Amino acid sequence: MPIMKVRLRTLILFLSAGSMLLTTCLIIFCIFWYQREEIRDYIAFSNEAYAKKIASTTDQYLASAQKQLEWSADLISNTFEKDDVKKQFLHISGQSDYFNSVFYINKESQVEVTTNQAGNMEGRYINTLNVKNNIINKIPLISSPFVSVVGNLVVMISQPVFSSQGNYQGFIGGTIYLTTDSILSRIIGQHFYGANTKVTILDSSDSVIFNDYDSHVLSIRKNFSSLCDSGVSGSMDLSSFTIGFACVDRSKWIVLISTPKQTATNMLYASVKKSLPLIFFILFTMIFVVFFISVKISQPLEKLAKITEGADGKSLLKKLPRVRTWFYEANQLTSAVYYRLMDMNQRAEKFREESATDPLTGILNRRGFFRALVNQSKSKTNSLILMDLDHFKKINDSYGHETGDRVLMNFSSLIKNSFKKNALIARFGGEEFVALLPGTDINAACAMAMKLQGEMYKLKFSDNENVTFSAGIVNLKISEDDVMQALVEADRLLYEAKESGRNKILRQEC
Ligand code: GH3
Ligand code: MG
Ligand code: MG
Repeated sequence: MPIMKVRLRTLILFLSAGSMLLTTCLIIFCIFWYQREEIRDYIAFSNEAYAKKIASTTDQYLASAQKQLEWSADLISNTFEKDDVKKQFLHISGQSDYFNSVFYINKESQVEVTTNQAGNMEGRYINTLNVKNNIINKIPLISSPFVSVVGNLVVMISQPVFSSQGNYQGFIGGTIYLTTDSILSRIIGQHFYGANTKVTILDSSDSVIFNDYDSHVLSIRKNFSSLCDSGVSGSMDLSSFTIGFACVDRSKWIVLISTPKQTATNMLYASVKKSLPLIFFILFTMIFVVFFISVKISQPLEKLAKITEGADGKSLLKKLPRVRTWFYEANQLTSAVYYRLMDMNQRAEKFREESATDPLTGILNRRGFFRALVNQSKSKTNSLILMDLDHFKKINDSYGHETGDRVLMNFSSLIKNSFKKNALIARFGGEEFVALLPGTDINAACAMAMKLQGEMYKLKFSDNENVTFSAGIVNLKISEDDVMQALVEADRLLYEAKESGRNKILRQEC
């Protein structure tokens, strides 16, 4: 049973398409890997830039807010008219939108003026740590986040008030809500950077000033504010986040902009997904081109393989030049097969000829005689002469084999010259010869045989000796069976000729 072999075209196709697919996958993987790092670096850079922007905006906001309070402090130190101050405070908190509430607390910790309507605070004494800090330090301060007396989470910006003589009078404080709507949350909260990017602001003791994050970042690291000791801004990878940070100069707050690292991967997935149709289009076009090329490459070899299947040498030689080879190897292979076949055919022809020829006399042997019969014209009247040299053994014995050989060669030459060109002459074995004479009747054949007899008398070999032959002549039609019959009859006549004294030519009765 023949073993099924993979076809060349399938091999080329699979090899090329496979390597293209593998290369595409590797390229996508490499782009994915390096681009992801690039995007992460870019995100880190952008987050830092964005943190710096928010830090500087916040710093400017705090500077302006402090300036407002400074201006109000000057007003109070010059003329303390409660209504004027209140108007001023309402202006600051209402119109300029810097603070959620503004108040003035004197050096005895008593609230003198406040814009906050809640809790009826005016006239009340407040002894919180923040108030004490202000009264003790007598300098502008920005507090840590704390819960105000009316229950809001706030930071407080404060400005000391001195009389025109330079005596400390108390301080003006402005609160900014951290949990509810305020100018700070509006500035920071309205960022347009990206859905996954979150802003967190911590004060110098890591208390949350602003956080639009789910506080995950805060849970993976403590002491963010210490970053402000080493520099104004920077970026870092923290667990699964890329974080850019910047410090607010005035308040020593730190702004953190964080993006999950997964964002870079997601962005890449999205861009690969977008480019997939194009990639597949290119890939399939290439595979189609490779298929076309593989067909072109394999075609000559496939044809070569196909025509060699069960074909004999001669038909193969005819078909081979029809194989169109356009590349070197196929061309070489086809011509190698062609020339080898031609060589083999020539050799076979030569062997065929040799096997049909008698090497001593150069005429046909018995095999050659029967093979040549096939090509004989089908004449109605034909004759066959079977001849045998008389007492040839004696010649061998008396004069040696070489003389015997020479006699055989001379006799075959005489036979060739004595009969027509179309005569089929063969050496049947030893010193026995046959001549088939197409288109020659038995009388003409007898005359030719007798003429040959005369020629033989003239042929002398050593010491003036000559050789005679006996013959049997029959007529026949040419077909293999007929020839066999004629040979038997001729052999019988030849035997008779030998028996009746040799040097005789006996013919069939017609
Ligand atoms: P007859 O008259 O009865 O035919 O006798 P003959 O001696 O011719 O026949 P026989 O069959 O007794 O001997 C034939 C001899 O021919 C024997 C053999 O050695 C010799 N012979 C056969 N082939 C060759 C050959 O190629 N060369 C030589 N020199 N002798 C051959
Ligand atoms: Mg003989
Ligand atoms: Mg004989």
